[in-house]
Amino acid sequence: MRIANLSGRLALITSEGKAVDVEQLSEGRFAADPQAVYGQWAEFQNWATDTELPVGIAFDPTDLGAPAPRPRQLFAIGLNYRDHAEEAGFSLPESLPPVFTKFVTSISGPVSEVRLPEHGLVDWEVELVAVIGAHAHDITVDAAWSHVAGLCVGQDLSERILQLAGPAPQFSMGKSYPGFAPMGPWLVTPDEFDDPDDLELRCSLNGEQVQKGRTGNLVYSVPALIAGISEVLPLLPGDVLFTGTPAGVGVSRTPQRRIAPGDLLVSSIEGIGTLSQRFTG
Ligand code: ZN
Repeated sequence: MRIANLSGRLALITSEGKAVDVEQLSEGRFAADPQAVYGQWAEFQNWATDTELPVGIAFDPTDLGAPAPRPRQLFAIGLNYRDHAEEAGFSLPESLPPVFTKFVTSISGPVSEVRLPEHGLVDWEVELVAVIGAHAHDITVDAAWSHVAGLCVGQDLSERILQLAGPAPQFSMGKSYPGFAPMGPWLVTPDEFDDPDDLELRCSLNGEQVQKGRTGNLVYSVPALIAGISEVLPLLPGDVLFTGTPAGVGVSRTPQRRIAPGDLLVSSIEGIGTLSQRFTG
């Protein structure tokens, strides 16, 4: 199953790529608000499985919003691919990798225009994003996938100067400018994948491939992250988890690279879809 946020309304995406409005089809049983569905996720899944979809309507991808636009918590993970930890000059974490947030006002839909901060060094990080579908507190790795509503593509846009400044680096502010957390293009349920733990992800800048990796190389897999975070605190329905990025970011290159006004960044994950960000000065 695929669900989307189409012009702020929850939609099911058919196998033909058309959209069906959930509030209308369910005659109000499920609200139009895309964030609300995660509070009734099991009930919604049962209903969607038992319901025959109409043909649906064609839509413009620029009308898509984030599939979880207002999570109560957004977790992001650093240094979670061996090759990226190496290029960043860090040893691999022996326990849970660094956890930080991207403040929720940074969330946007999959196709967007992003304004670059004036004196910044803005960088790309394509990431698999998981959205939580059931309250998860102190759960095991084996139980973790059943707490995931679905997966989407995310871009953890990062302004490196602010990210690494100060007496102790604090990741969250430099990663939270408006539009720095595009997500989408829709949410795909885990059962849609042959192996949800091994998906190819790619990122290109102006048509040049800059990142290519597989989530099978995550140091902490999606279930391991959920188990590790939920040892400390509960993950809530509709919460968002950015799982980390593979090698190829601009800051680790020689010479360093940054996103410039006019650049087009395209991020994609096998079996999910594509994000597209155009930058302005
Ligand atoms: Zn990241």
